Amino acid sequence: MRETLQRIGLREVDLVRECDAAFKQGSRFDGWVNGSSEDRYYHPFSLPQGYGDADLVGGWLQGHADRPFAECVSPQPHLCNAHLAPKQVSTPEFAAVANYGYHFDAVKIGVLLRKHAVATLGVRHILDHVTLVRSHDNGDIAALQTRTHGDIAGDLFIDCSGMPSLLLGQHYGIALQSQQHVLFNDSALALQAPYADGHVPLASATISTAHAQGWTWDIGLPTRRGVGLVYSSAHTSLDAATTALHQHIQRSGWAAELPTPRHIRFTPGYRERFWHRNCVAVGLSAGFIEPLEASALALVELSVAMIRDELPANRADMDLVAKRFNDAFSYRWARIIDFLKLHYALSQRQDSDYWREHRLPQSQPERLQELLQLWKHRAPYRNDLFRIEEVFPAASYQYVLYGMGFKPDLAHAQPAQRMRSERLAQAQASLHSAAIITKRQLGGLPRHRDLIEHIRMHGMHGMPP
Ligand SMILES: Cc1cc2nc3c(=O)[nH]c(=O)nc-3n(C[C@H](O)[C@H](O)[C@H](O)COP(=O)(O)OP(=O)(O)OC[C@H]3O[C@@H](n4cnc5c(N)ncnc54)[C@H](O)[C@@H]3O)c2cc1C
Repeated sequence: MRETLQRIGLREVDLVRECDAAFKQGSRFDGWVNGSSEDRYYHPFSLPQGYGDADLVGGWLQGHADRPFAECVSPQPHLCNAHLAPKQVSTPEFAAVANYGYHFDAVKIGVLLRKHAVATLGVRHILDHVTLVRSHDNGDIAALQTRTHGDIAGDLFIDCSGMPSLLLGQHYGIALQSQQHVLFNDSALALQAPYADGHVPLASATISTAHAQGWTWDIGLPTRRGVGLVYSSAHTSLDAATTALHQHIQRSGWAAELPTPRHIRFTPGYRERFWHRNCVAVGLSAGFIEPLEASALALVELSVAMIRDELPANRADMDLVAKRFNDAFSYRWARIIDFLKLHYALSQRQDSDYWREHRLPQSQPERLQELLQLWKHRAPYRNDLFRIEEVFPAASYQYVLYGMGFKPDLAHAQPAQRMRSERLAQAQASLHSAAIITKRQLGGLPRHRDLIEHIRMHGMHGMPP
C-alpha cells in the first residue's frame, strides 16, 4: 500500500491526518496456542534477520529455543511491545526503519482516494445506483444502466460492488466456492471503542485474541480502537458472541456502556473465476474470508497491479489475460486459505468444539497437510511458496509455525552436514545482529503515539506542512 500511495501521488501526511491512520508493524496473536496468560506471539512484517542465507530455525533451536522465534530473529516484536513507531521523525515519507503498513479509518480512506483520483488523476466519478446490466450479442457487458445518469458504456468493467458481486456473481452467475468446511467463520460483530484517555500508548500491531467462541481483532487508531469478534454461527449464537465481545473489551479496562455492535454475515469463499468475458471482480465481489491476516486489501492491490500491467491490447487478447488472471488469483486465494488454516490447525485449545473441529484432518487442505508433514523435518523455505509476490511467503509460515509452538526435528535435514554447520554459524551471526539492531532501534525510535501526533501537527520530514 505504501508503494501504491506513493505511485499515485498521495502524501503520507494526508493519510495520517485525513484517515486517522497509524502504522502497523504486524499482528500479535494472543491465546491461540492454549489460551494461557503467557500465550502470545508475533507475526511481524519484516523478514527475519539473515532470512534465506542462514539456517535461522536451526540456530534458534540450537541455542535460543526458550525464547519466541520472532523475538530472536526480528526487532519488530520488541518495538511493538514498547509501543514504538517503525520510523523516526526525520525518516522521509513512505520510507521505513522497520517495515510497516497502516491501520486507518476505512470510510475516510474512501473519501481521500476519491478526492485525489478526481482532482489529480483525471478520474470521472459518477455517484449513482446501477440498476441493470446491458449485454452485447456476444455476451460481453455493453453498459450499466444507472438510476439518474443513464447508461454508462465501456470496454472493460471492474466489479467493485462488494459482497453482492453485481456483475460477476449476479449477472454472469459465477458461483462463490464456499470454504466454510475449512474456515468455519461466517459472522462478525464490529464496534468502535473510544480510548479511556488520549494518552494511552498506541498499538502498532493488530491484536488478535482467541476465545472459545472465535477470535477478536483490536486495531488502534490514534482517535479510537476498532474492535470486533469473528465467529462461526454453527458453533456460537449471536447472543453468546455479543457477550464474548463485550467481556473482551471490558477486560481491557473499558467501563462505560458499549455501543451495539454491527453484525456482518458472510460466506467464506471465493469465485470460481474472477475475470469473465470483459468483467473482472476486485475486492469483496471476488470473495471474502475472515480478516485474520488482513489479506483482503493486499489482494485488491495485487489485482489492480495485474490489471494495470496486463491490460489487454484488444478483445481477443482479453480472454488470454483473463485466463492468466484467474490462474494467478485462484492460486493466491488457495494459499491464503492454507495460511489462515495453519493458525487453527496448530492450536491446542480445548475449550470448545469450534477449536477441536478445526484440528480434524478432514477440515485441512491437502497441500497444507503435506507441507506440515515435511516441516516436521525442515523449515519452510522459498521453494514451498515459490511464486513472485506470494501474499504470505515462507517467512510468514515460519513466524506462525514456531509462534504456535511447532518444534521440528532438524537432525536429518538437508543440506549436507558441512554446509549445515556453515549455515548454523551464519544463523548465530544473524541472531546476534538481530539483537544489536533491536537494541539500537529500541533506543532510537519514538513512541508511536508521539510520532503520529507530530505528523498530524507538523507534517513529515522535508515536506510542506
Ligand atoms: C469485518 C471485516 C473486517 C475487515 N478487515 C480487514 C482488514 O483488517 N484488512 C483488510 O485488508 N481488509 C479487511 N476487510 C476487507 C475490506 O473491508 C475490503 O476488502 C474493502 O472494504 C474493499 O471492499 P470492496 O470495495 O470490495 O467492497 P465494499 O467496501 O463493500 O464496497 C462496495 C461498494 O459497492 C457499492 N454498490 C453495491 N451495489 C451497488 C449498485 N447496485 N450500484 C452502485 N453501487 C453499488 C456499495 O454501495 C459499496 O460502496 C474486512 C472486511 C470485513 C467485512
